[in-house]
Amino acid sequence: MFRFAPSPTGDMHIGNLRTAIINYVCAKKSNKKFILRIEDTDTARNIKGKEEDIKNILILFGIIWDEYYVQSTHLSIHQKLAAKLLENGAAFRCYCTESELEEKKELAKNEKRAYRYDGTCENKGFIENKPFVIRIKKPTKTITFKDEIKGELSFEPNDVDSFVILRADGTPTYNFACSMDDMCEGVSFIIRGEDHVSNTPKQEHIKASLGFNEPMQYAHLPIILDQTTGQKMSKRDDHSSVAWLLDSGFLPDAIANYLLALGNKTPCEIFTIKDACEWFSVSNISKSPARFDMDKLRFINREHIKMLDDEILVKILFKDEFLARFKNYLPLAKLAKLYTEEASTLNEIRAKLSGFFLPFEIVFKESEFKECANLLKTELSKPNLALTYDEFKQNHSCGLKGKQLFMSLRMLLSGANKGPELATIYEILAPIMSELLKVKNEQC
Ligand code: GLU
Repeated sequence: MFRFAPSPTGDMHIGNLRTAIINYVCAKKSNKKFILRIEDTDTARNIKGKEEDIKNILILFGIIWDEYYVQSTHLSIHQKLAAKLLENGAAFRCYCTESELEEKKELAKNEKRAYRYDGTCENKGFIENKPFVIRIKKPTKTITFKDEIKGELSFEPNDVDSFVILRADGTPTYNFACSMDDMCEGVSFIIRGEDHVSNTPKQEHIKASLGFNEPMQYAHLPIILDQTTGQKMSKRDDHSSVAWLLDSGFLPDAIANYLLALGNKTPCEIFTIKDACEWFSVSNISKSPARFDMDKLRFINREHIKMLDDEILVKILFKDEFLARFKNYLPLAKLAKLYTEEASTLNEIRAKLSGFFLPFEIVFKESEFKECANLLKTELSKPNLALTYDEFKQNHSCGLKGKQLFMSLRMLLSGANKGPELATIYEILAPIMSELLKVKNEQC
């Protein structure tokens, strides 16, 4: 059983999405279930609407969960399990106040040592009418686990410390809720970001303290570094926001391809999530942090645009009302694919193609080719228009040739004075030339 356990506390960034996709792919590959668990126990940080955003993004990427939980609905289970730890002596009530703890932390700071809980309340009995938190007693021996990417990792009891599992208001802390849910839901493999490495021994310790010793597999994914600064990618960085990438015209399939390939050895460069379900293995992921590479993402996006079904591509690029103006709009997909030579995102392609629909008058305003274009327009409107550019060049009767012909034709068709091979543009558009000219005229 695999799970993705996001907190509804902010926008989905590529690190979260990568974790989700990798968990999903590994679940599919090993025929195991995939759980989506919304970790909403830190109520102060929850943001309304984020749970829906997370689900919508996952659906858009085709990441469909088999089971779904909202962590806060497990509150009574968490409280019962904390009580069990109190009962078996693995946890204790801690009555230390915030200010007492702050003072001790301050002292540790001044003495330049790491603060650790000093055991003040470990052997205290129950004190009536005094608020308390529940702490788990720190382990007595080294905790070791194997990470599929990083190898064997060990943590000393002092690294784990006697930490809080239930807050004074009776709600569980992240480490407690998370480990208890993983245990109860039957999770067998945890894949998450490496910022959680130090939480793993804590979670192992909690489970062991309840006598639960089922082995758990782990993989902590290396962080993603910013392309230019080389620092951890900030959540505020546009490139790290999934919504920003989608708004900029990157295809979900391309983003998924990029994230699965990041810092990884893959059998091919361009693939889909479905392909990765056949061969993906976390053990091929490199230990070292991966650097975000916008050029690579742009390359992968172009390749996925080329692979898209023509019908789907035009529907993504244009509104239905616009497409309704063409009897056959599929050549527009061919045109879009041709423009991947110089455009990498859907937005860039839309911008390039918009030149093809510009009103004729606007394109030739103050142009030296205006007269030529007028002649060409008449020629292109003829019902028996040649389908190949060579035939058109030989057979047209507008009297233009050479540079005059191709420059004005290029301008007339694409609204720009440069771009992909003119012959290819012409041949893609020839079957829909009359409709295209009509659109150009109607825009006037
Ligand atoms: N809720 C945690 C987060 O969003 C997930 C931790 C985990 O996967 O265990 O970072």
